[in-house]
Amino acid sequence: MGIFDWITQSAKKLKDIETKIGEETKDVYEVYQRNVVLEREIAQRTEELRLANQTLLTLEQVWDMMNSSRPLSSVLETIASSLYGEFGYLYSFIAQKEYDEGKNCFALKTYLENDFSTDLIKLTQNNIYNFKFHPKTQGIIENAIARKEISYYISLKDFIEDNIPDADPEHVKEFIENHNVKTIIIFPITVQDQFSGFLAVFSPRKELKDDELSFLNLFARQIELAITIANLFETVKKQAVTDHLTNLFNRRFFEDALHREATRSLRTKQPFCLIGLDLDHLKRINDTYGHSMGDKAIAAIANVITSSSRSVDIPSRYGGEEFFIILPGIDAKGGVIAAERLRTTIEKTHVEGLNEGITASLGVSSFIEQTTNIDELFEMCDKAMYSSKQKGRNQVTLADTDNMTSWQDIAIDAFVDILTQHRIPFNKNLAAELIEKLHLKQQDSTGSSTQEILFGIVDAISKSYFPLYQEGSTKNKVALAVLIAKRMNLPKSEVDKLKIAMLLYDIGNTMMPKDLLKKPAPLSKHEKTQIQKHPILGAQEILKPIGSVSNIIPIIEQHHENWDGSGYPNNKKGNEIPITSQIILIVDSYFAMTSYRPYRKAYSDEDAIKEIKLNANKKYSPELTEAFSYAIEEFKKL
Ligand code: GH3
Ligand code: MG
Repeated sequence: MGIFDWITQSAKKLKDIETKIGEETKDVYEVYQRNVVLEREIAQRTEELRLANQTLLTLEQVWDMMNSSRPLSSVLETIASSLYGEFGYLYSFIAQKEYDEGKNCFALKTYLENDFSTDLIKLTQNNIYNFKFHPKTQGIIENAIARKEISYYISLKDFIEDNIPDADPEHVKEFIENHNVKTIIIFPITVQDQFSGFLAVFSPRKELKDDELSFLNLFARQIELAITIANLFETVKKQAVTDHLTNLFNRRFFEDALHREATRSLRTKQPFCLIGLDLDHLKRINDTYGHSMGDKAIAAIANVITSSSRSVDIPSRYGGEEFFIILPGIDAKGGVIAAERLRTTIEKTHVEGLNEGITASLGVSSFIEQTTNIDELFEMCDKAMYSSKQKGRNQVTLADTDNMTSWQDIAIDAFVDILTQHRIPFNKNLAAELIEKLHLKQQDSTGSSTQEILFGIVDAISKSYFPLYQEGSTKNKVALAVLIAKRMNLPKSEVDKLKIAMLLYDIGNTMMPKDLLKKPAPLSKHEKTQIQKHPILGAQEILKPIGSVSNIIPIIEQHHENWDGSGYPNNKKGNEIPITSQIILIVDSYFAMTSYRPYRKAYSDEDAIKEIKLNANKKYSPELTEAFSYAIEEFKKL
């Protein structure tokens, strides 16, 4: 091959190589370009994923907060702050419509602090926590809410002109320069009659993509949900402490409040007083005009009480037509004046459709001045109310501090005696502990109430011989017995005896052979006779030596006698049996039936009541059965 041929050939080879390199470069370039597109796509998808993840996390957090019944303000703040914290918006807030001297006005419900809010404060010369503004009539915000449509401001300037027209122009200029807001998105938020407002989101981007819009929409719905749930919580919370008919606090709330007030009063040495009020002759109103007129009379009294109460007072409906009001900071003298004012206002109250006036009997007792024991305070007030009734009704009586040996004092004496003298077989260490509790109670009235300590002692003693005894049932038994007694119009002195008897009536059971009470089968005739000895055993062997309860003994001895004479131990019948003994029998039967026994299931509440009614005229007098039917309904509301 000549040199030229070689050169030509080489040049051709070179060209081939060049072409090849060129082609490959093109390939590489294409690959490179494809990679760039892919990378961009990956970045976009990653961002979308991050946003989706963040949305989920935020929603989860909001859900947790809603479930933990946190205050609405903190739930709303979490939602609003996540928008500018995690999602790159410049600011967001939630505002609620208010009525301000005839004009529409919006008040901020979330207060997030950042540069934006600092400048917003400057702009409005306001405090962010009190930031209110009047939007332009028929402007973007008003229309968005009226039409329930998402709306936009496409410049911050328009937003300020519409909503903060009085802002200083210099500040406006500075604000617009400092914050690169391109769009303001307004999401209307409405929850029935409870909330009407909007969520405003300040975005640094002009464009708003569909998925961004639906994601923001999700947040707006979340806000509505949070408000709905918070309202529900609020309603439920309120229902739990207030009475349906009168909207006053219920008995449970009153009892807790009495404890709280007493503790505070002892700490601050400030007195408080208690007013008790009972509507006069409600039974007659019910009988003459019907039950709904009785309800109207009760509601009228509640109205008087509500409108004459200060915000710190605690007015409550204790039972059917019985009210108690706690007046913090008021002494006995002030309490009588307040009660007298209530009495005269009630006297002047007209109940529509009722052709006669209504009146009430009131009692007043004073904490610190008259006693530092809340049970005693309550008893004294109740007694004073009762004496207003006896003196002819429609009057106020201040509690009398003389002769104030309460039923609790008598019961404490009895239990201290029983435990210290070892009158019943009972664990010695536990007895010593209980005695100490009782002694402490006599010296000091703070902490749990005397009644509660007494109930606890009876629970403990009952459990010692009968492990199935339900904790807390002593308290319930006494409550039901008192409701029945009141329904039967028993005088206060009898109700007091009944309370003591309710604590002691089964004490004789401590002397029974243990196996007998635990026996998993119905008892034989002989065993029954043994069990039937317990009222006598209790009364005679245990209680006879304790002088202060001598008048309780006959009540206890007869608490298994039946109205028709079929009971034990002496087959007494009818009015030979004290009413208090009959009340113990009916209460004891009801609680026994509704409790589990080794040889039978517990009766349902309805079945137990049915069974008791079947025994009207047999075990119980008809009046007692009727009073029970009424009281058990009241009892269930406690
Ligand atoms: P007193 O002047 O001695 O208080 O007589 P009274 O009739 O008001 O009182 P009593 O205790 O003899 O009867 C109370 C009545 O109140 C019996 C009961 O039917 C009725 N009552 C209790 N709660 C309600 C209620 O919520 N609505 C109505 N309409 N009556 C009720
Ligand atoms: Mg009454």
